[in-house]
Amino acid sequence: MKNIAILGSSGSIGTQALEVIRQNSGVFNVSVLSVHQNADLLIQQAKEFLPARVVVTDPDRYNDVKQGLSGLDIDVLSGEESLCEVVVQDDVDIVLTAVVGFCGLRPTLAAIEAGKIIALANKETLVVAGQLVMQRARQKGVAILPVDSEHSAIFQCLAGEEGNNIEKIALTASGGPFRGKDSAFLQGVTVKLALKHPNWSMGAKITIDSASLMNKGLEVIEARWLFDLRADQIDVIVHPQSVIHSMVQFEDGSMKAQMGVPDMKLPIQYALAYPGRLRNDFLRFDFLKYPELTFEQPDVTTFKNLALAYKALQMEGTMPCILNAANEVVVSEFLNERIGFMEMSDVIERCMNEVSYIRQPALQDFLETDEETRRLAKNIVTEFKKVYPI
Ligand code: NDP
Ligand code: MG
Repeated sequence: MKNIAILGSSGSIGTQALEVIRQNSGVFNVSVLSVHQNADLLIQQAKEFLPARVVVTDPDRYNDVKQGLSGLDIDVLSGEESLCEVVVQDDVDIVLTAVVGFCGLRPTLAAIEAGKIIALANKETLVVAGQLVMQRARQKGVAILPVDSEHSAIFQCLAGEEGNNIEKIALTASGGPFRGKDSAFLQGVTVKLALKHPNWSMGAKITIDSASLMNKGLEVIEARWLFDLRADQIDVIVHPQSVIHSMVQFEDGSMKAQMGVPDMKLPIQYALAYPGRLRNDFLRFDFLKYPELTFEQPDVTTFKNLALAYKALQMEGTMPCILNAANEVVVSEFLNERIGFMEMSDVIERCMNEVSYIRQPALQDFLETDEETRRLAKNIVTEFKKVYPI
């Protein structure tokens, strides 16, 4: 029996992880669940899975959850710090980090310090502080198992290849809902249009990141740390069918790809069950339904975010942290209709030019850089609104 802590159980990844666990109740046990505000869903999930502890990070929802679970032997905690406390308990074997954004960093580090296996969905953790996180994981002998579908694909391709060098990898990208569109079109796109992803159903933040190609930029940085590669070893290729989830090319030129229907339950299950594979009844891939698999270059001139992410990766230090914080602000501002789609990259680029940059940061530097960047990004958005009211 593997005991799982799910951080972010009300989200897209969190709820799909619970589906995987529901179908394999003899293999997995839930010891922790967490949400930010969705008290109703947390109460419902806790009544079904009976974890030892739950966290509602927004303190305003604590009383609702406490009341909803009264009479059950479940500890109810609140506040972000509680995430760091619950992951280190003895009855946790694997921590699935399925919260969205920078808030995943500290609990992930706490779990690593306590020697827990990490099933990593929260890519922002590696984007912000990949070097620090991987270094601590190596020192502690902790496995970081990718949940992101592209990285899970690479990880699966690498099984049995210990000692064989990677020449390069290709991360596949669907291209999102605006593939092939020009800047004139993108100026006017609405939130509703941007939230319509052609192949995947995901949380709002990552769906906007996919539409703006920032998601692929974050994934390039994530891959750099997970697989210890240089930026020039990581290619991005647009593959609109999302059937090949990514590929590895070895030193002899041989390429391995992992394929399947686009369904996050598979990479989630692979990480939780690793190194084994579990039988399931998920939808199977049918070649005849996909007579054509196509590939294109990404358009990094229109979708500047991917180029900005490569730049941040090359600079290392706190630059990816600046990129990430600015992106979290602009995505939230876009979702609230306070900024246009194309302005997102402009704000990120300005933050990368203006926020103080630290070449060899410690944890505290990341926390301060994140705050400084958020302040600046919000100010820039306010300036924009004065000039171009929308
Ligand atoms: P969702 O927005 O669907 O869910 C986010 C989860 O995090 C919810 O449980 C939410 O709680 C919680 N949360 C939000 N804000 C905070 C906060 N400040 N503190 C603590 N918890 C918080 O996101 P996804 O499931 O789509 O994505 C989760 C992570 O996985 C992201 O890093 C994403 O990039 C990554 N990922 C997602 C994929 C997908 O298919 N969805 C694919 C690959 C990676 P509440 O509901 O109460 O707000
Ligand atoms: Mg992905």
